[in-house]
Amino acid sequence: MDPQALKEIIVRFVREAGADMVGIAPAERWDEDGRVPPDFRPAALWAPARSVIVLGLGMPLPMVETTPSIVHMELYRTVNRKLDLLAYDLTMLLNRRGAASFFFPRDGFSSLKPFHERPVAAFSHVMAAYYAGLGTIGASHCLLTPAFGPRVRFVSIFTAADLPADTPLEKDLCIRCGACADCCPKKAITLRKDRVVGDYDMPACLEMAEELTRRRCYPCGICTKVCPIGEDRRLYREKGILKKYRKEAEALAADPNDPQYRSWTHLRRYGTP
Ligand code: SF4
Ligand code: SF4
Repeated sequence: MDPQALKEIIVRFVREAGADMVGIAPAERWDEDGRVPPDFRPAALWAPARSVIVLGLGMPLPMVETTPSIVHMELYRTVNRKLDLLAYDLTMLLNRRGAASFFFPRDGFSSLKPFHERPVAAFSHVMAAYYAGLGTIGASHCLLTPAFGPRVRFVSIFTAADLPADTPLEKDLCIRCGACADCCPKKAITLRKDRVVGDYDMPACLEMAEELTRRRCYPCGICTKVCPIGEDRRLYREKGILKKYRKEAEALAADPNDPQYRSWTHLRRYGTP
């Protein structure tokens, strides 16, 4: 089938099925760029891979703002499940059209335990989304996208079809405002002067993730909540919200019932241990 026509079918199919973002990277982009170790590249994971289709779903900002909470945890689970369903449906559609396909599920881990020994997943959707032109990597190590900033999750479908590729964004979206580093409860992110991507203290972030897992309200995502990037901020425009984020930890330490944060603290107090 004509590759451009197949790409159009893919884009129409995933848009109609609810995907907010779709981008395509050629499998050789991993080799050209070289940042991802060889064993973690698409062709090493599945030899016939010629193209990688990355799908993204946004996370509604006011729900992310409640983190850590039952609302945020359930949203995270719902988005993950919908991503896997989208990836499954697209994989089967491509197979039926004679383009052999395979998808790597969205999270790629069964629990947090393996991260103590091997602190990465077998495949990075963040790098795939970057190669597919969906965004750029910010100081927080999240992929920042024009539409949702980092409030978006991804899944990747490998296919043997040679599809027309999208181009990675040239301009970094991260403005190095430092909000992610300042608001991280574990101080796991440190901005660097010599590059956009910050230093990331994985064990510190993992400690937070384990605390929240024990409290049944994983994941954290405070660094995604406070990032000012994303057109979603226009939809949910709230005056002074960035200042409010920056003052939140201190204000709630002084007064856990601070009325400014009542809607968030209410949702954090109920539904989880
Ligand atoms: S919060 Fe600021 S520094 Fe952190 S990723 Fe977003 S734009 Fe970059
Ligand atoms: S997920 Fe939470 S603990 Fe981890 S880097 Fe982001 S803000 Fe920090």
